[in-house]
Amino acid sequence: MSYRITWIEAQRSFEAAAHETVLDAARRAGVVLPSACEFGGCGTCRVKVQHGRVQYDELPPALSQEAADAGYALLCQARAASDLAISTERVLAAPAPARRRKTRVLSTAPLGPDVTRLVLGFADEEPWAFRPGQYVDVFPGDAAPRSFSIASRSGAMEASRQLELHIRRIEGGYFTQTRLSALRAGDVLDVEGPLGGFGYHDDDYRPIVMAATGTGVAPLRSMLAAMLASGDTPPIDLYWGGRTPEALYLHDELTQLAAQHDDFRYVPVLSQPDAAWPGARGYVQDAVLADHPDLSEHALYLCGSPIMIADASRAFVASGASIRYLYVDSFTFAHSPPVEAAA
Ligand SMILES: Cc1cc2nc3c(=O)[nH]c(=O)nc-3n(C[C@H](O)[C@H](O)[C@H](O)COP(=O)(O)OP(=O)(O)OC[C@H]3O[C@@H](n4cnc5c(N)ncnc54)[C@H](O)[C@@H]3O)c2cc1C
Repeated sequence: MSYRITWIEAQRSFEAAAHETVLDAARRAGVVLPSACEFGGCGTCRVKVQHGRVQYDELPPALSQEAADAGYALLCQARAASDLAISTERVLAAPAPARRRKTRVLSTAPLGPDVTRLVLGFADEEPWAFRPGQYVDVFPGDAAPRSFSIASRSGAMEASRQLELHIRRIEGGYFTQTRLSALRAGDVLDVEGPLGGFGYHDDDYRPIVMAATGTGVAPLRSMLAAMLASGDTPPIDLYWGGRTPEALYLHDELTQLAAQHDDFRYVPVLSQPDAAWPGARGYVQDAVLADHPDLSEHALYLCGSPIMIADASRAFVASGASIRYLYVDSFTFAHSPPVEAAA
């Protein structure tokens, strides 16, 4: 059985069999739809299903039940269950096609107890363009690629030749523990990018709430630099959560940024503070809701672990947030284990 899929904005139609993903069917028909990770982890292929039904083996990690109920679908996992009309209305244009390039490690430095700043320089000296909020895939050479958000401040002079990543150590993680600690200046790493559809929607002139945990702040740092430099953004409240003060590795930088911009507020939130901590306590989403019990007029940008994103999305939608203005960057990880080292 096959169904007719119509992509409204592009005025293209193609057939999709019931057993294949809509993205695979599009590709077979020569129709290029936005996509990146292809395991339902990044949300780049999110579309609004205007007519029809899709189905999944299981709900993809980057699609909340609320978003699915509101008619959004991730095409790399969704299979058509009827004819479909899909809309890519909210997709941000990519500044440049992704490509694989050689980089050299310029530096590694600890940012906190379990976070490392890795700065890579492009070996070919060619400037590169990314949209703040995007990510790259890093190829360890002997294992499958690992995804990391671009933390570089796009306005900074070096951003066109360098790439800054903030990497949290995963206990037992092949890249973030074993390989990262062995990297030295001058080592070569292949990187593919820029990837992903996360970023600032400048057509939504609504007050902005950003919420992140841990290294989820990395893409927001990059976005904030560009947004605040433009001088033309709605008010932005950033809530950043960690367990203890040491986890908030950009605390001084963000505090300074807030002091420089009247329209930017930074709210650090600790889930395990000591008695002396003067700031917000608990989970980051609870701190957001304490300040904004009604989110119906806001645009929301969420970055971090899939669990935080799922919990926060649910709580924010229950407080009036519209899925249409809820943008997420979920730090899922590839399901497959690292591939065996080449002999
Ligand atoms: C779009 C995107 C952007 C990302 N950006 C960042 C970023 O900016 N900074 C950052 O620190 N991370 C980021 N991540 C998560 C990062 O890709 C993974 O943590 C990383 O791939 C782990 O690699 P590893 O080789 O160390 O772990 P692996 O050897 O692949 O995994 C070891 C074990 O840990 C589990 N695991 C792996 N990753 C995680 C995780 N994140 N949380 C919990 N358990 C895990 C695995 O299931 C496995 O059991 C991002 C992920 C995505 C999809």
